[in-house]
Amino acid sequence: MAKIQMKNAVAELDGDEMTRVLWAVIKDKLLTPYVDLKTEYFDLGLKKRDETDDQITRDSAEAIRRLGVGVKCATITSNAARMEEYKLTHLTPSPNGIIRSALDGTVFRKPIFVSNIHGTVSCWKKPIILGRHAYGDVYKNCEIRTPGPGKAELVFTGADGKEIRKTIMDMKGPGVIQGIHNLDSSITNFARCCFSYALSEKVPVWFGAKDTISKTYDGQFKAIFQNIFDKEYKAKFDEAGISYFYTLIDDAVARIMKSEGGMLWACKNYDGDVMSDMVASACGSLAMMTSVLVCPGGQFEYEASHGTVQKHYYRYLKGEKTSTNPVALIFAWTGALAKRAELDGTPELGDFAHRLEKATLDTIESGTMTGDLAGIAEPKAKAVVDSWQFIDAIASRL
Ligand code: NAP
Ligand code: MG
Repeated sequence: MAKIQMKNAVAELDGDEMTRVLWAVIKDKLLTPYVDLKTEYFDLGLKKRDETDDQITRDSAEAIRRLGVGVKCATITSNAARMEEYKLTHLTPSPNGIIRSALDGTVFRKPIFVSNIHGTVSCWKKPIILGRHAYGDVYKNCEIRTPGPGKAELVFTGADGKEIRKTIMDMKGPGVIQGIHNLDSSITNFARCCFSYALSEKVPVWFGAKDTISKTYDGQFKAIFQNIFDKEYKAKFDEAGISYFYTLIDDAVARIMKSEGGMLWACKNYDGDVMSDMVASACGSLAMMTSVLVCPGGQFEYEASHGTVQKHYYRYLKGEKTSTNPVALIFAWTGALAKRAELDGTPELGDFAHRLEKATLDTIESGTMTGDLAGIAEPKAKAVVDSWQFIDAIASRL
């Protein structure tokens, strides 16, 4: 059978440990037998990042910018223990952080549903896509432990020298104060990424903030979202039959818990941090989640949301065939190939991506699954297999 051809390449960012092992198996068994894979390959394994002083990571971000589509394996973020383990010359920053700040994107995460894995929230019938603003607020804060009584003030000195000054509090005793910020440009990019992604997924957008209390700060988020929506997206949303809904964050949380899902939930940075963990854990396994970085320049980077599964890797090195779930890695590839097909107008490649996703989900629904899902499947799993057997089972359906 002739292999499916690709018009343009995707940037391929390889990674570390167990996910690097599975990455190669997925390519070998599920991709290259069917597709004449065109990729620009970047080895983001920790050793290589260390040797190149992260130039390889910056180059890979540049390739995503140029090619429009990237697919990334999970990577180690180094720390003192990894310095020792990999004999590194220095501590390197998180590659995801480098790529996200180079492309200024928003991360969207969406649970993967199968009929025999039931989440803990029984009314959620459709996936909730969570979009987290990845800039500013408490993640770039400035804090002071105030030792005793005194006046806390907020001061802004403009580039023109003009000062704006407000009293936060006349503090009668010791306490704490904190300064946080955000930028109109970043909030605007965030809003555009959310509305564009919702249009591509044909789902409504929900956004919640606390503008009743924080009239200026959260009020600015609310105003920018509404302004971008009215000016740039309202007509397209009407045409697609989807809507934009703003409500207070606490009301949004209460409604989400009673909803049937199926919306894109845009979250401010802290809300997204907390709520994405809640949505992920309610959906069963870290490996049953897709993750995509959507950039205002129109680029897309697909990845698994979990890490390199270090504990499984050490068992693999001792010769054990681990039961690590490769679904999120497979979906990173199918997401990237489907997006490439959409941008290039190559429906055959898009069909292949959807067939691979279907073969993966059908394998689990037929009762063959990895250990992480076996404990929560209903009806019970028929075969609990290792990663290699699971990938073979998908290949035979494909
Ligand atoms: P992890 O790789 O997400 O794994 C934590 C635990 O979650 C595993 O021990 C395993 O539990 C379970 N798990 C995660 N993915 C699984 C899968 N596909 N199949 C089955 N079980 C899975 O987190 P970590 O071990 O804390 O971190 C390892 C490395 O990953 C760190 O160096 C960190 O820097 C990096 N990391 C990278 C990314 C990224 O590149 N996007 C994200 C997070 C972390 P059991 O042991 O109970 O089976
Ligand atoms: Mg978190």
